[in-house]
Amino acid sequence: MLITTSYGEITRFDLSRKIAGRGRYWTTAYLLDKMMIDTGCAHTAEELDHSLMGTRINKIINTHSHEDHFGANAYLKKRNPEIDIYAHPSATKVLANPDKYQPLHLYRRLFWGQPEPSDAKPLDHNAVIETENYRFQVIHTPGHSPDHLCLYEPNQEWLFTGDLFVGGKDRALRAGCDIWQLIESLKLITDLPARQMFPNSARVRQVPAVHLQNKIDYLEEMGEKVLTLDQQGKGVGEIARSLFGGAMLVELVTLGHFTRRRLVLSYLGRNHEK
Ligand SMILES: [Zn+2]
Repeated sequence: MLITTSYGEITRFDLSRKIAGRGRYWTTAYLLDKMMIDTGCAHTAEELDHSLMGTRINKIINTHSHEDHFGANAYLKKRNPEIDIYAHPSATKVLANPDKYQPLHLYRRLFWGQPEPSDAKPLDHNAVIETENYRFQVIHTPGHSPDHLCLYEPNQEWLFTGDLFVGGKDRALRAGCDIWQLIESLKLITDLPARQMFPNSARVRQVPAVHLQNKIDYLEEMGEKVLTLDQQGKGVGEIARSLFGGAMLVELVTLGHFTRRRLVLSYLGRNHEK
């Protein structure tokens, strides 16, 4: 499934695989000035290409190496071999060989699919990406993943935040995420003068600093509570239940890859990948 929304010069694509009549676990890609920021998942690659209606894109920037962000790279590159693909230096090997470096859990295969390999050029902190009309500053923002990038356009005051900012109050976390690093990255982008934020796991926000600060305050408050309960000798499961409530469907669907327990473990520095 694909839903297109325009924000002036920017087009947002919300993408998901249709299962039992409705879209599940949506992901997002953006298009502006013949550049795509992320390309969604493998299952929606053809649909995304179709909706571009012949727009000859020339650049793809992947915010990070999760499979729901670079799934159509290879498909679009086959349509136009002149496309340049960019990602953080440590993401490029994952993009080049996803089967080896990112074998997928069953739920990830089902909802998003394993992307075909794609070759990306390395893009590091403080690099500048130019399109015909805009200049984007590249900001390394680890936490959600070690290879996560945000893009900032200072003249337009646009902030593209990938999966760094997610909507709502987090009650669970994915394996491998580093919550303290994520908070530091949120602080880094909160300092930028921005009027619009374009996330991949939340709706578009005006005046991003307010939303970012609220998120930081919430995550820091929960962090303090986790550490206090840990010092009192409470177990991980008990802390998860008391701070983040009852069991969530996503914990079952992801077979423990995305859970309340992971969020607690990350605050305690123990959320290692599995
Ligand atoms: Zn992600």
